[in-house]
Amino acid sequence: AEPYYNPHVAALPKYNAGLNLAAAKAVSGLDQIARLASNENPHGCSPAVSRVLSDGSVEFWRYSDPNCELLRATLAARLEVDANEIVIGNGSEEMIAAASRAFLTEGASALTVAPCFGLHEIEPLAVGASVVKVPMTADFDFDVPAIAAALSSGPNIFFLPSPWNPVGAALDHAGLARVIEATPKTSLFVLDEAYHEFVSDAIPDGLAMLKKAQRPYIVLRTFSKAFGLAGLRVGYAVCSSIKIAKMLSAAKTPFNVNAVAQAAAVAALGDEAWMREAVSRIRVERDRVAAALGAMGLRVARSEGNFLFFDSGRDSAELAIDLLRAGVVVKPWLEPSYRTFVRASIGTAAENDQLLAALSAIL
Ligand code: PMP
Repeated sequence: AEPYYNPHVAALPKYNAGLNLAAAKAVSGLDQIARLASNENPHGCSPAVSRVLSDGSVEFWRYSDPNCELLRATLAARLEVDANEIVIGNGSEEMIAAASRAFLTEGASALTVAPCFGLHEIEPLAVGASVVKVPMTADFDFDVPAIAAALSSGPNIFFLPSPWNPVGAALDHAGLARVIEATPKTSLFVLDEAYHEFVSDAIPDGLAMLKKAQRPYIVLRTFSKAFGLAGLRVGYAVCSSIKIAKMLSAAKTPFNVNAVAQAAAVAALGDEAWMREAVSRIRVERDRVAAALGAMGLRVARSEGNFLFFDSGRDSAELAIDLLRAGVVVKPWLEPSYRTFVRASIGTAAENDQLLAALSAIL
């Protein structure tokens, strides 16, 4: 390391962003690649979004609105919150980075779960905080008593993903109530609901529960998953107070969300019916793929998201290479404790069939 390196950044674990399309084509020699590594929406996005992108109405030669006024107002009405409590990010990942910059200093502490969403660990580490992770239970669920015990030490930030990427579990009403109650008011509760739109009726709306809790929080949501805008990069934070929103805003770059992305997100919200239809198709496929993996003798975690996490019984990095040869890109878990686990997004029926066929040929 050079003397001018930030030692925290120099020591960061690498974010595993999955394999790219060119590599998959080269290795497989196939044109049809099933891209199941990044939990995208295989059905694309609403035609209302495509229209806004092609009708010439976005003045992209101007700087974008740094405050995302229209998008915040649209979200505020829909979520029944004050627009000044919402901050829009260049993806919700930018809000994870901004929260870490705004609320953690060197030597501070963050708490999350294991296996974790990479950025819930990387962003706290980048600002010199330490990260404690509470492992999942043997039956692939949140260990609520262990989380509650870890919270009693008063971490500065608690990053809780529900539905949980990569596992798939989501906290039910009792579980989330217990976790909220166990989080000291001196800790910032960051509930990451990137997969919120996919959950079943049994899973509560975390924002609605936190609104009643009289405590500091940030709820993160995104247009990348159910709304199908992953490549445009739009996500948002709903904060418990204007003060917290101002801190987050101060920690982001000024023109963080581009003009095309802002217009697309507003258009996507104007066609919720498209999103609901895509979500219900994905859920049907998810349950079909989960059953098929189970029938192959694999242990699959119950999922409330658009992905499945399963124990392949062998080295996941090697399995991922074998799958790549069959034109299927998945995300292998590389940490020693989860080294046999793979996360596969739910794709189109054809893509899912490609995954299942490849797995049954390999395993
Ligand atoms: N949080 C979770 C739990 C995620 O799985 C993801 C995407 N993989 C993100 C945040 C970031 O998504 P985006 O930046 O596209 O909004």
